[in-house]
Amino acid sequence: MAHRVLVVEDEEDIAFPLVRTLEREGYDVEWVESGQKALDSLETSPELVILDLGLPDMDGLEVCRRAREAGYQGAIIIVTARAGELDRVVGLDYGADDYLAKPFGLAELQARVRALLRRTSAAIGGGDDEADDGLRIDVEAHRVFAGAEEVPLTGKEFEVLSILAANRDKVVSRGRLMADVWDENWYGSTKTLDVTIGRLRQKLESVGVTDRVVAVRGVGFRLEGGTPDA
Ligand code: CA
Repeated sequence: MAHRVLVVEDEEDIAFPLVRTLEREGYDVEWVESGQKALDSLETSPELVILDLGLPDMDGLEVCRRAREAGYQGAIIIVTARAGELDRVVGLDYGADDYLAKPFGLAELQARVRALLRRTSAAIGGGDDEADDGLRIDVEAHRVFAGAEEVPLTGKEFEVLSILAANRDKVVSRGRLMADVWDENWYGSTKTLDVTIGRLRQKLESVGVTDRVVAVRGVGFRLEGGTPDA
């Protein structure tokens, strides 16, 4: 099912390309242009909110604070054009998960959105019922277990695996893995990715994990097998 994303932004020039980009990425996007509408829309439980600070009816930080007070548990990314204010905003705890200064690149925003959704869906999907001899990923702790046994992964191996696991049974393109795990400005060879995948496979096999990282020729990689959600 598509991830639901709420965009709260009063400037059409910013909202339109943003919404279009997110929709192209496959998200189910709702766009509202005021703080009150944003708070009303939270009742539909979007998984992620992209929140502008300068809204016509109320401060975005107020929206953030009220959303958390009302028990909203999804991710919130704050975007602001108030140059120099980001440090102050970040320093105060309004309950946002990430912050981005305008103008921002759409690629950067997409990367942040993916990272946050990955974190929230892994946290939701990572229950004990997956813990037989399948793979269990503790995103918060950056640790991976096969049954009770920990699989020792490097940071990059962990990142690659958690992206593949969040997209289980779907192909994740090389470009996306490179952009998310290494650097979105990466222009080098993707050999590094192949080496990382190779090591990851070895490590998973060596502890008897039945999930496999399958290469899809010319496209990317897919995590298959194991125990999907019961
Ligand atoms: Ca604005």
